[in-house]
Parts: sequence; structure tokens; C-alpha cells
Amino acid sequence: MGRLRIKRIGVMGGTFDPIHNGHLVTAEEAWKQFNLDQVLFVPSGSPPHKEDRKSLDPESRYLMAVIATAANPHFKVSRMEIDRPGPSYTIDTVHELHRVYGRNTEVFFITGADAILEILTWKEPEKVLREAIFIAATRPGYDLRRLEESLPESEKKRHATDPRVLVMEIPALAISSTDIRKRVKEGRAITYLVPESVAKFIEKSGFYI
Ligand code: ATP
Ligand code: MG
Repeated sequence: MGRLRIKRIGVMGGTFDPIHNGHLVTAEEAWKQFNLDQVLFVPSGSPPHKEDRKSLDPESRYLMAVIATAANPHFKVSRMEIDRPGPSYTIDTVHELHRVYGRNTEVFFITGADAILEILTWKEPEKVLREAIFIAATRPGYDLRRLEESLPESEKKRHATDPRVLVMEIPALAISSTDIRKRVKEGRAITYLVPESVAKFIEKSGFYI
């Protein structure tokens, strides 16, 4: 028993500049709803789509993710993308996960519905969908039509019987890193938006001022 069971690894990629409770609630909910063994947070190296704004250095973003997840036994943070030179693409990360965890692993990419729309308009979405299942987090009441319309043709055909894009409703969605950076800059509190340890670390390091 157990030896042949397929391992279910959730992957939450992001800039995490900084990591916040929206990320953590989403990861925990995916872990529960989809019976995942583990959720791996993968902070990006140099993000391909965010070149307009210089983000905090990868080590600091990685550290905040470690601090935020340290007490949770099924959360882990990966250095995979920050140690890889150049921009990272989802497909490379999926391949590396299969290399690290073995073929007997199903990879579940957890993203906000906004991010999944971006991924599905990248190159080779069909290939990515073959190798990973997507969990799209939405607010309750979110209009799913845009998401459904942007699925590649192969996924539209397969969707009814064997969906590779799953939808998960979560309530805590209004939190964003952009808003947190703005609050810090304006001297406003970020209490309850990020874990207390992360808030303290941001303050001590003088980030986002
Ligand atoms: P920014 O405001 O800088 O874009 P962000 O808050 O969107 O930051 P990211 O690091 O860009 O955070 O997001 C990482 C992943 O988490 C993405 O898939 C994104 O869609 C998702 N995400 C971001 N905020 C939330 C939230 N409040 N609830 C659920 N998922 C979220
Ligand atoms: Mg974002």
C-alpha cells in the first residue's frame, strides 16, 4: 500500500513581493480541497512579465516565503527558479519538478484566475496542460466565462470528461502584494494582511519604504 500511489504536489509560483495571507489561504485551501500531499511555493527569479517594476531581490522574497510557511508541515519553499539563470517559464518548472519528484507525481499548478489567463496565452499552453493540472483560484461570484473562453481548443474538447483546469473559490482574494507595498510606503499598517513574522521582517529590513 502507498508505494504506487501517485504523489500530488501543489505548486504556487509567484513573485511573492511580499508573500501575503491571500497566497497562504489559497495554498491551504487547495491542499485541502484537492488532497495534495504538499504545496511548494516557488518564488520567481527575474519575472518575465514584470520587467517594468524592479522587484525586491530574490533572496529577500525567498526568505519572506520561508518565514511565512515555516510552521506549516505541508508547505515548502523551493529555490528552483531563483537559482536558475534567466527568466523562468512554467513548462521548465514543471519539467524540473518531474525530474526531482519522479514520474509518479501529478503536478497541480495553483494560480489566481488572473495569472492563469496569462499562462494560457503563453507559448505552448497545450504542452503545459498535458504535464500539469491547473487550479484556478477565483473569488466567489467571479465570471468564469473569460477563463473558459481562453482555454486552448484541446482543453475545451476534453474539459467535460477530464478537466485539466480546475476552479476553486476562495474568499480572501482582495489582498495583493501591490497594495501591501503601497501601504508600507504610506506608513499604513499591514497587520492581518501578511503573517506577523513577515510584517516584522519587512519593518526590520526597511523594505518598500
Ligand atoms: P502583485 O500585486 O505584485 O502582482 P500578487 O499579490 O498578485 O502581487 P503574485 O506574487 O504576483 O502576488 O502572485 C502569485 C500567485 O498568487 C499568482 O498565481 C496570483 O494570481 C496568486 N494570488 C495573488 N494574490 C492572491 C490572493 N489574494 N488570493 C489568491 N491568489 C492570489
Ligand atoms: Mg499578481
